[in-house]
Amino acid sequence: MTNYFSKVSSKDIDYLEKLCGSNNVSTDEEDLVTNAIDAQLGGFHKPEVVVWPETSEQVVEILKYADEKKIPVYPRGGGTGLTGTVPVHRGIVVNMKKMNKIVEIDEENMQVRVQPGVVYDALNKELERYGLFFPPDPSSGAACTIGGMAASNASGLKAVKYGTTREYVLGFEAAFPRDGLQRLGTKTFKYSLGFDVVKMLIGSQGTLAIFTEINLRLRPLPESMETSAAFFSSISDATKAIYKIIRQGLDVAALEFMDKPTMGAVSEFKKIEFPNAEAMLLIETHGSKKAAYEEMERCISVVKENGGFEIWHASSKEDRERLWSARKGAYPSVLKLGRFTLISDVIIPLSRLVEAVEKAYSIGKKYGLRTSCIGHFGDGNLHVNWGTGDNGEKIESLHRANDELNRWVISIGGAVSGEHGIGTEKKSYMRLQHGESYNLMIKIKRLLDPNYILSPGIAFDLDDLLNKSG
Ligand SMILES: Cc1cc2nc3c(=O)[nH]c(=O)nc-3n(C[C@H](O)[C@H](O)[C@H](O)COP(=O)(O)OP(=O)(O)OC[C@H]3O[C@@H](n4cnc5c(N)ncnc54)[C@H](O)[C@@H]3O)c2cc1C
Repeated sequence: MTNYFSKVSSKDIDYLEKLCGSNNVSTDEEDLVTNAIDAQLGGFHKPEVVVWPETSEQVVEILKYADEKKIPVYPRGGGTGLTGTVPVHRGIVVNMKKMNKIVEIDEENMQVRVQPGVVYDALNKELERYGLFFPPDPSSGAACTIGGMAASNASGLKAVKYGTTREYVLGFEAAFPRDGLQRLGTKTFKYSLGFDVVKMLIGSQGTLAIFTEINLRLRPLPESMETSAAFFSSISDATKAIYKIIRQGLDVAALEFMDKPTMGAVSEFKKIEFPNAEAMLLIETHGSKKAAYEEMERCISVVKENGGFEIWHASSKEDRERLWSARKGAYPSVLKLGRFTLISDVIIPLSRLVEAVEKAYSIGKKYGLRTSCIGHFGDGNLHVNWGTGDNGEKIESLHRANDELNRWVISIGGAVSGEHGIGTEKKSYMRLQHGESYNLMIKIKRLLDPNYILSPGIAFDLDDLLNKSG
């Protein structure tokens, strides 16, 4: 369906320049190229023009115009997405980086209203002054935006205690192609008010609306944190310890898993000497000084009962930061071993985590890939890094291995994405994952974006949308 959309003409560029200012519109090669990729391997699709709106009204007008002209529009935040959310049908990239203000901090009601281009770490740095924070904590926090996080339902290291971005978005101001600017949600932490459109937009990856403001609930910063690393001589012991910690209801803020190959990569990159272990768990507890300490003690007993043979305890802020920097540096460390790497983001029933890691290793072996595993195991989220080193000829094997794992995961009741989303990379699994109910998503998409101008090719195949029988 290559001719379904219109190309961007010089008249369209004139319109965009008039609307947003010529300094906020570019067709320069450098800008097209930097907006042609995200952090996923392989996706490279240059848009025809990049626009940096500065107001919500400009975003509304861009969508209205693009809808009339049938020009594709791709919203973009920090560009750190890992699912190939790139402009596959070209058109306009609406880069939200200039809409990066913290609009209002409502300390009393523990919430904040931000524009979508605010960067995660920058927001938390500001909130620290109020003793508050926005917890999801993706490893990419230094670069990803709140808009991108809401659109991907991002989470990460602390989701086991605090949940994902979904649990924190109270409302949006969002621009729709046919319905203009809408304010959605409430300022309250609970409500029962009919369909929850706010939650429906979370994870929509720019396919239904562009967020122009986001209202987030916040949490008080914990009074105290305890952080420990535990080492195991088998993956099965480590996952048994994880299962028991969760099953006993211990209040962990993070329960992170790293396998031996990942530790090897981190050790080289971060210059940390780990014991000779098959698996490492990073455990953190939050609360009052007493509660955080006692909960950590309970976790450590479980670790010891399940074969943890060495335990490091972070006794200072520096120690703690060093342990976290090892964990957050895991993906960049693996990338240092070779640039052709593909990361999977599967989510597994807790009881099948060992099997999942073994499955990943056996698939990796079958395709001759360097395979390493890491994950937010407290909630069953496994990232497998498949790599070919610098051998670009074997890229196809990365995709085959990932495909085999994804299909197996669906067959055991898991899901192909825990936090990164669908993008272009995983859209072929949508029917397998959702069954007949995938058609409901298609109907909603048709209703809100009847010309399919918002992020075509992302999450949905354009052919599925155009095929009216679907
Ligand atoms: C080193 C590294 C580590 C990572 N670690 C994690 C992790 O721990 N947890 C995790 O969840 N993810 C992680 N990611 C993936 C990525 O950082 C997240 O998906 C993040 O939420 C993307 O935010 P972004 O601002 O970069 O969005 P982008 O990559 O720019 O966009 C992502 C999606 O959001 C849409 N979007 C962006 N802004 C808007 C808007 N205003 N309105 C509507 N749609 C919008 C885009 O169209 C696209 O579909 C990691 C990535 C890297 C490179």
